[in-house]
Amino acid sequence: REQSPSYKRVLLKVSGEALMGNGPSGVDPVMVDMVAADIAEVVASGVEVCLVVGGGNIFRGLAAAAKGMDRAQGDYAGMLATVINALMLQNALEKRGMETRVMTAIQMASIAEPYIRRRAVRHMEKGRVVIFAAGTGNPFFTTDTAAALRANEMECDALFKGTQVDGVYSADPRRNPDAQRYDQLTYLEVLARDLNVMDAAAISLARENRLPIVVFNMHAPGSFSAVMRGEGRFTRII
Ligand code: UDP
Repeated sequence: REQSPSYKRVLLKVSGEALMGNGPSGVDPVMVDMVAADIAEVVASGVEVCLVVGGGNIFRGLAAAAKGMDRAQGDYAGMLATVINALMLQNALEKRGMETRVMTAIQMASIAEPYIRRRAVRHMEKGRVVIFAAGTGNPFFTTDTAAALRANEMECDALFKGTQVDGVYSADPRRNPDAQRYDQLTYLEVLARDLNVMDAAAISLARENRLPIVVFNMHAPGSFSAVMRGEGRFTRII
């Protein structure tokens, strides 16, 4: 494994599940604060950090469609769910003294700024944590794809994906004890083996722009900052 690279600007994808804690759904304030503490540590080390938040802890378009809801309509509801998570995360970050901005891909100017790329870049240059909400603004996409898109737009050095397990496995390690863990994979290996880490659109976007993806377990306090230093277990997709 190569030496830990030094990052100047990174994007962290926080899934809705990461904010859920041990509950079946919704948001656990303890988890939100833990994630905020982790981000604060990385920001304090001088790295520019932006976030894409998911919404799966509250609403998923695909799951709603399986129960008969119109898919696009469900996806719009899912995108609104990400805004709820973004506001909670913003609150937790600001309580820790960080400067933040929420920018939404669907305009709701009373609570957040509309997403304007050049403005987001300025916020980051000033050291503000920018939270990108409402996904890509389009149904039939995911917040993973939004993460790859925004990371490219912000010219991030890497996309960090916090998950429930410490990297990418050949199968779900929580169900299959024989699952093999990878230290490093190529984008094409992820696609060809249909590894369940990010959807194909996100992987393709990262591949076209040579954006490294780092997959790690976000359930332990301090894990984001540890992985940023190249410590602990993670999978690099390059
Ligand atoms: N979504 C969407 N377009 C996007 C991003 C998200 O339609 O660009 C919707 C989709 O319905 C998705 C929901 O928002 O199920 C929540 O996002 P996601 O499932 O990616 O959240 P996560 O799994 O990261 O919690």
